[in-house]
Amino acid sequence: MPHAPDAPDTPDALLAELAQILDPAGLQTGDAIEIRFRKDWYAPLGDPPLAVARPRSTEQVSAVLAACHRHGQPVVPQGGLTGLASAATPGRGELVLSLERMRGVEEIDGQAGTMTVMAGTTLEAAQGAARDAGWLLAVDLGARGSCQIGGNIATNAGGNRVIRYGMMRDQVLGLEVVLADGTVLTSMNKMLKNNAGYDLRQWFVGSEGTLGVITRAVLRLAPLPATTQTALCALRSFDDVVRLLRHAQRVLSGRVSAFEAMWADYYALVTTRVPGVRAPLAADHPFYVLVDLQGNDAEADAAAFERMLEEAMDAGWIVDAAVAASGKEAESFWKLRDAVGEFPQMWAPNAAFDVSLPIGRIGAFAEALKAAMLAAYPTAELVNFGHVGDSNLHFSVHLPGVGSDAFPEAEIDEIAYALVKRFDGSVSAEHGIGIHKKPYLGHSRTPAELALMRTVKRALDPKGILNPGRVFDI
Ligand code: FAD
Repeated sequence: MPHAPDAPDTPDALLAELAQILDPAGLQTGDAIEIRFRKDWYAPLGDPPLAVARPRSTEQVSAVLAACHRHGQPVVPQGGLTGLASAATPGRGELVLSLERMRGVEEIDGQAGTMTVMAGTTLEAAQGAARDAGWLLAVDLGARGSCQIGGNIATNAGGNRVIRYGMMRDQVLGLEVVLADGTVLTSMNKMLKNNAGYDLRQWFVGSEGTLGVITRAVLRLAPLPATTQTALCALRSFDDVVRLLRHAQRVLSGRVSAFEAMWADYYALVTTRVPGVRAPLAADHPFYVLVDLQGNDAEADAAAFERMLEEAMDAGWIVDAAVAASGKEAESFWKLRDAVGEFPQMWAPNAAFDVSLPIGRIGAFAEALKAAMLAAYPTAELVNFGHVGDSNLHFSVHLPGVGSDAFPEAEIDEIAYALVKRFDGSVSAEHGIGIHKKPYLGHSRTPAELALMRTVKRALDPKGILNPGRVFDI
């Protein structure tokens, strides 16, 4: 667990100040601290924090941070605690600042095509409000019911629809952020074009709570698609996966809304081990791709989708395919991909990775990775899958018969991230760096980039109170 750079000078005095700022339900201390605030999705249970602050308004966030700044008190912003980089798990004596009581959609502007939303709103609630108003909030991920808009922005979340709509970064038009000293930076821009000076909002997107606390956002909305076509395709080689990707994008002109690749090992594992996941195609193909088209004309879309698949079959890139005949069947295809949520239970312990690589090199990387892992651990089992259209590869490594205590996670990380560096990839595609990947940030960033990151951090948070020890050390 991270350690605070400086212990707060007088925790009792700080706690007394916080009790003045927050209502009784807004401050938990001592034994009253709920255990759920002590870990995010990835990390083991952390040490007890000093307290948990649960403000209701931007003004309260500002007052809490101003007090912490005066006292040199380290603060860990928390959203829905679904993060996979262990950045939101508090260390001993840190103050948890939970945004969970700051929720609600303030406005949907049908002319601007924007939503103004408080940071503690769950992604699912924001998506639902957009849908009810006839719009699409395009970022979507498996943790939608728990993760919060503020957490999605702080991690620059990706998910299943990036290929068409971009990452969270691309949805954020405006932000309200409270800086480490309590300064409220209001930049609730609704315009797509705004070149008036530096684009400050982008500093905070993906900053993992180290530069400021996000309290509100203006998000860009997209027209709500009315129809979806889904197919599962079997392919012979990774080169054919890339050919199919480019062919589908060309023929369907921008309407490809998901392109998820699964290697044979992954397909075999989830169709044999995860209850409720069926195999629409035989399990003897080297690669599988789940492809979605979203549009607004059921008949024309279906015809275009089928033509795209037929052409790919005629070219020999697809060797077999199943097209979902109903929404229910499409859901069952998607279970193949969502089954990864079961890995922590059914395939434990395993080391899970989220990296990105130039698309054309992903196939060769996966082969090199398998060779390197088997050389080090001859009984290792590996599965590869990912949002290949976004250059994002996920993989997991399991050592049968090796329990949690003996599992060599650090050694497995070393092997994998050294290869990512060799293939000019990034050690984090969408989950962030947090604490877990901190030793490897330098594999994907130059010394000059790291120095500039530290300069920005020092300028915005001179006492280093926001999420100390996450992303990099000062
Ligand atoms: P938390 O976990 O609470 O925090 C994450 C980071 O953001 C921490 O550094 C925290 O300090 C900071 N933070 C949180 N709120 C704020 C705020 N208001 N202001 C400043 N900093 C803040 N991620 C993807 O990108 N794509 C996926 O497809 C995906 N699928 C997932 C599926 C499952 C089943 C799970 C469990 C996770 C998945 N994730 C995925 C990871 C995770 O859901 C995202 O990283 C999510 O964006 C985190 O949001 P959160 O609110 O839970 O943040």
